[in-house]
Amino acid sequence: MERFTAAADLHTWSVGQKQAGMKIGLVPTMGYLHEGHLSLIREARRHCDKVIVSIFVNPTQFAPNEDYDAYPHKEAEDIALCEAEGAAAVFLPTPEEMYPTGASTWVEEVTLAKGYCGAQRPIHFRGVCTVVAKLFNIAAPDVAVFGQKDFQQVAVIRRMVRDLNFPVRIIRAPIIRDEDGLAKSSRNTYLSPDARKSALCLSRALAAAGEAVANGERNAAVIESAIRETTTAEGWLPDYVNVVDSETLMPLETICPGASAILLACRKNGLRLIDNILL
Ligand code: AMP
Repeated sequence: MERFTAAADLHTWSVGQKQAGMKIGLVPTMGYLHEGHLSLIREARRHCDKVIVSIFVNPTQFAPNEDYDAYPHKEAEDIALCEAEGAAAVFLPTPEEMYPTGASTWVEEVTLAKGYCGAQRPIHFRGVCTVVAKLFNIAAPDVAVFGQKDFQQVAVIRRMVRDLNFPVRIIRAPIIRDEDGLAKSSRNTYLSPDARKSALCLSRALAAAGEAVANGERNAAVIESAIRETTTAEGWLPDYVNVVDSETLMPLETICPGASAILLACRKNGLRLIDNILL
């Protein structure tokens, strides 16, 4: 497996691979890899000959009050995991490599990025779009795989790709969960055993909502208040819980199975978790 820290070196390698007829896949991550990330690498390998995994904790998507400095790292183990999954290359740039002194250009999606997580984290998606656009230019992938875990992120990136004509196909891979239902996340390491136990209310509430819809419920307000009640009872207060159109993210009053999703973010004791379900 190749390792790159310089953007120009990865670009040269990737373009060479493409000239040799290889289809290139990219899996952008912030490291501290878990089974969710590994599922994205596997999905990318199904569609591509050579998969590049980027590992970069992107400073521009964190607000000053967020956890950039505390974000967990385990670089050597991450590299070994990428190799074991058959990645062809890892890209481990420094912040200086990605953001040269005086960097002053942003990529900003201004519609889908405004609500939900964007309302709580006003600069977050601008940082995400900027770093992903840079990674697309550096790695020149044919395909990029993102997790449904960050539902709004995939919608924003798909819009950016469409609007800016990036020649990249975006694949959304399903959420990987622990056996008890908790969506895997690098940030789950912040959860105490008690908080982790109570956090199961998010996936439980969404699963119950999915069942209610399967049994014929179509009223979004009814579903949203049932979720709100379940999580609040465990001390996880919703930042938002919305039934939305799965493409435009517009809130829906009436659920349309096959084209709707429920987006959920909850807080407890300064911790924040997100989860979602496609209906
Ligand atoms: P992160 O390292 O948190 O930036 O995540 C990198 C990629 O992995 C993003 O596309 C995430 O949506 C995806 N991802 C994170 N957790 C999961 C999960 N539990 N299941 C599937 N994909 C995930």
